[in-house]
Amino acid sequence: MRIADVAVHACRLPPTSPWEDATNRVQGLEFIFVELTTDNGLKGSGITYTVDIGGTAIATLISDYLAPLVIGMDARNFEAIWTKLNRQARRLGLGVNSMAIAAIDIAVWDLIGKAKGEPLYRLLGGARETIPAYISEINLSASDTIVDLVRRIDDYKARGYRAVKIKIGHDDPGLDIARITAVKERLGNGTQLFVDLNQKWQPAEAIQKMARLDTFELGWVEEPLLYQDIEGHARLRRSMKTPLALGESLYSRQQFQAYLAADAVDIVQADIAFVGGVTEWLKVAHLANGYGRRVAPHYMMELSLSLLCGVSNGFMLEDVVGGGLYDLGLIHNRIVPVDGVATPPQTPGHGLEINWDTVKRHRLTGETVRTSFAGGSK
Ligand SMILES: [Mg+2]
Repeated sequence: MRIADVAVHACRLPPTSPWEDATNRVQGLEFIFVELTTDNGLKGSGITYTVDIGGTAIATLISDYLAPLVIGMDARNFEAIWTKLNRQARRLGLGVNSMAIAAIDIAVWDLIGKAKGEPLYRLLGGARETIPAYISEINLSASDTIVDLVRRIDDYKARGYRAVKIKIGHDDPGLDIARITAVKERLGNGTQLFVDLNQKWQPAEAIQKMARLDTFELGWVEEPLLYQDIEGHARLRRSMKTPLALGESLYSRQQFQAYLAADAVDIVQADIAFVGGVTEWLKVAHLANGYGRRVAPHYMMELSLSLLCGVSNGFMLEDVVGGGLYDLGLIHNRIVPVDGVATPPQTPGHGLEINWDTVKRHRLTGETVRTSFAGGSK
């Protein structure tokens, strides 16, 4: 089953609801798709993404540099393919290269599933048939009132979610406390609330503010500090009672290893696209397992679902408001949680049926990005 052809497609489109957190305003999501065709006629698709920046660089890296390297390789040998690509791309550091490798790696796993006639979650171990999901909103705009927020919480509850994540990190800490208080009260018993700082706080500020947040018995606090600050997270974690979640800004198993060895993380949030695909994500998940930690992957719900059901330390699936691939029109099949519980696709491979019409309609080129990108970091 040798790889005979690699096609690359990229698109840019806004989330279906506006995204704003403590440190970013998001204008566009960029998705890069890879289609692999084998010499025996199988087709596998892979996907990676970026938030607002770098999609054209990733698409070019794949089509000009990485695609020629995998032509002729046996698609069953996911380790050989991943290792070859990673060795070649390591001059680029971390990030852009692992995101590019992810698209190819995911397509390789799709091919393996199709060749074996097995869904992805079973290839990875088939640890469970379903996984609970939490609804994750990205709405910290100045115009968002507590009345608006509580109304959305009612909607999430009505849809069957028992766990919710909200953004915090207002300059006025009283506003954060007011939002958390209102949401906790509205959610009621038997629910979980997670909060996400998106790296907003300084280390000393975080220790002080967490003392107050600890009283709310939150499910976790996410990315309180700059992602590079391993020692700061370790120190903060020693001072707080709330579980600490992070990992969406890490790009390799070695970066996760450093956090785990420093006892600086409770919930591991590796993103399949950012760490380089299924192959590296699995290593991160098993590494976390060795440290007795659970995984709750960042975004990419439609693929994360199969990952979480594959491994034994899967915790919870993130369903991001405004970012679902079906809602964005990027897949034909509706892969969504029902009553707060998600079931992985049972079809061979990852089960995502890409809607190529949407990809074409929102095609990403240098020109489209030059006319639409203005930078949203705060
Ligand atoms: Mg986050």
